[in-house]
Amino acid sequence: MSDTVDDMMFELPDQYREIAGQARALAEQAVPYSDRADESDSVDPDMRRLLADSGLARLAVPERFGGLLPEVDSLAITVVREALAAESAHLDSLFCMQGIGSFAIVKGGSSAVQEAWLPRVASLDAIAGLSLTEPDVGSDLKAITTTLTRDGDMLRINGRKSFITNGGDADFYSTLAVEEIDGQRAYSMVLVPADASGVSIERPHQIIAPHVLGDVIMEDVVLPADHRLGEPGKGFALVLATLSTFRVSVAGAALGLAEAALVEAVRHAAGREQFGVTLDRLGGIPAALAMSWTEIEMARALTYRAAAAAARDPRANLHLSSMAKVASTEMAGRVVDRCVQVMGRFGLVRGSRIERFYREARPMRIYEGSTEVILDSLAKQLVQRMAP
Ligand SMILES: Cc1cc2nc3c(=O)[nH]c(=O)nc-3n(C[C@H](O)[C@H](O)[C@H](O)COP(=O)(O)OP(=O)(O)OC[C@H]3O[C@@H](n4cnc5c(N)ncnc54)[C@H](O)[C@@H]3O)c2cc1C
Repeated sequence: MSDTVDDMMFELPDQYREIAGQARALAEQAVPYSDRADESDSVDPDMRRLLADSGLARLAVPERFGGLLPEVDSLAITVVREALAAESAHLDSLFCMQGIGSFAIVKGGSSAVQEAWLPRVASLDAIAGLSLTEPDVGSDLKAITTTLTRDGDMLRINGRKSFITNGGDADFYSTLAVEEIDGQRAYSMVLVPADASGVSIERPHQIIAPHVLGDVIMEDVVLPADHRLGEPGKGFALVLATLSTFRVSVAGAALGLAEAALVEAVRHAAGREQFGVTLDRLGGIPAALAMSWTEIEMARALTYRAAAAAARDPRANLHLSSMAKVASTEMAGRVVDRCVQVMGRFGLVRGSRIERFYREARPMRIYEGSTEVILDSLAKQLVQRMAP
């Protein structure tokens, strides 16, 4: 049997096993820095250096712009995130945002903008950001208020984006804005360099699992017309392209985190005695551990299948990516909660790995499509496909 993604059922093809191996080696090198980085609200320089040296950030862009593979490949991104999230959410986020923040440039950037930015994204010389969310707008992106207006040959942007990963540390933000076209509200994307005049950053929020987050404020930012990404009014096509390629990788990260949490719980349960036996033989503990293992393997089967399908045709397989994202992030929430329970009071100790995983699992069910929003969209597709 040829070793291609299409033939892949139960094992990863060699190319992906190699990439996963490199990611595990990077995660190993990150061990001395992960406690510090995962509590930081700005990009950790050691993590940045390690990721750049590993060359894995080159998966974020296609080969023609200095990338590792011919195209950005959902399965490769997913297996890397699985390995990185098992050690550090900070490293995982730094890795995946290079792709998520720059994909609109890959798909819709002018050649000048692509050549100026994408090789720097691949080398981690430039940090990428994606600006969709606003203070009053989350899931309902059509309600955004950030405006894009044409000003002669230039583009003018005004608005505030909120909860933006890498906000304050990114070198550019692929930004969704509303633009009036033929008297109608239309949505367009534009590349906003962080050093453009009128761009400023505030950091009003920090979340339970620290994350590099900032609000990006744009006041009369004026940019050359070639900073437009994609066609005027077709901004959502680029958002959809980004989600279709990267959403499944959140499932990979959740998988890695859940596996790492289970390792912690198993080691603890096998090493601690109560009532004269180790915890792994007591009451509901064996079932909690075995159920967690089972759920992880179920999520892995769906995640790899969805990621391989997304690598072939991201848009046609977005329903699978969405299912994998919901299944794997919800699974990670359950598993890490059970692992804390298995470890008793030791699962609650601040600064321990398990406590960190417990906090880090939580945002995954909210960003890149919350569970409820994804389920609502899947239900609509289900009825459309199957109802008479
Ligand atoms: C760690 C982190 C990093 C982030 N990074 C970025 C980033 O880089 N760029 C960016 O643009 N944004 C980013 N975000 C924002 C993120 O995309 C939003 O949090 C997300 O879109 C949800 O929006 P919201 O939080 O405003 O929730 P809301 O949209 O207010 O939703 C609140 C609740 O209502 C439910 N809900 C909403 N609509 C529906 C519906 N139609 N049907 C059923 N239930 C519904 C939701 O599921 C949720 O439970 C980040 C968020 C976090 C936590």
